[in-house]
Amino acid sequence: MNIQMVDLIGQYNNIKNEIDHSIQEVLCTATFINGPAVKKFADRLASYNKCNYVIPCANGTDALQIAMMALGLCQGDEVLVPVHTYVATAEAIALLGLEPVFVDVDPDLFTIDLNNIEDKISPNTKAIVPVHLYGQCANMEDILMIAEKYNLYVIEDAAQAIGADYEFTDGRVMKAGTMGNIGCTSFFPSKNLGCYGDGGALLMNNEKLAEKARMIAGHGQKKKYHHEVVGCNSRLDSIQAAILNVKLPLLDKYNKTRGNVAKRYDKALGDILGIKTPKRAVYSTHVYHQYTLKVEGVDRDQLKEKLYSKGVPSMVYYPVPLHLQKAYIKDGYGMGSFPITEHLSNVVLSLPIHTEMNIAQQDYIIESVINAIKELS
Ligand SMILES: *Cc1c(COP(=O)(O)O)cnc(C)c1O
Repeated sequence: MNIQMVDLIGQYNNIKNEIDHSIQEVLCTATFINGPAVKKFADRLASYNKCNYVIPCANGTDALQIAMMALGLCQGDEVLVPVHTYVATAEAIALLGLEPVFVDVDPDLFTIDLNNIEDKISPNTKAIVPVHLYGQCANMEDILMIAEKYNLYVIEDAAQAIGADYEFTDGRVMKAGTMGNIGCTSFFPSKNLGCYGDGGALLMNNEKLAEKARMIAGHGQKKKYHHEVVGCNSRLDSIQAAILNVKLPLLDKYNKTRGNVAKRYDKALGDILGIKTPKRAVYSTHVYHQYTLKVEGVDRDQLKEKLYSKGVPSMVYYPVPLHLQKAYIKDGYGMGSFPITEHLSNVVLSLPIHTEMNIAQQDYIIESVINAIKELS
């Protein structure tokens, strides 16, 4: 059986006509940069997310960087960020000369832990970047409360959670990436809404901020050849936008398909000793960018090996916590500084989950996991 973490070829084959046609339209009109497809996509993504402004850019990492530039963060400002995340979240902070201040995560939800967060806040703290890791929102209600109390900006890293819904205690429901000052997302091919190259976007509601972010993404100019601020060149190209215009209307269906796979995994693996299936937060839907087990009864790496030998790929997101990465080591942080993240880096294992998985493949994966754990126990 041929099983992959994601099946982008299978997905393309199912929407080939629409995609090819949409790309062809860009080719025939030679509107490669800032063409109508880009504008159309930005408008549609804004209405999908019920937010006022979407500013497309070149990738999710750029989106984070542009967000921090637009908010006027400057050298020395401290930014709170979960230590269990993809490097891009901290990279954008460090690249601007800001100080990433790492925070441990909830051991079951994998998102930023707010319990000791106030200890980390100093007079230099200017922002917090919650990451909606694996496809489920961080506790935004509490994050927004802390942000208000300490006057911090909130930049959501929604690269893995596009389409997830957050429910506040008063019943309001908002989309991942639209609750803070700015939300950032990525259209990297394997993301839930992926294009066929690099792509990203910023989501926001404030008009002034949107104007600034748009200006920064476009060489710091509002008027061509008149540069008001130092910006960068970060664009979503029209071919990628054309692809996203076909895929955006399918996003809810895709996320639902992922959810159905997750449900089958939950049911089949929920009672297996040695592994824990992912916990769902009460306040968020889960779009299962990853279906991530905690392997605590048997050796995670041995389980990964065994699965691999049966033709079942699996991945570790992420094997080395950020505070132990050479580029991000700093005084006062070392082994033992973030025990939960350190533990997670040894026990997390993500199973294949994507939009084209058939039942036979799911059953084979489930059976392989159960058998491998039996053999290792
Ligand atoms: C993918 C990802 C990014 C970066 O997106 P790129 O488009 O690859 O630059 C940022 N944060 C998280 C959590 C991601 O998963």
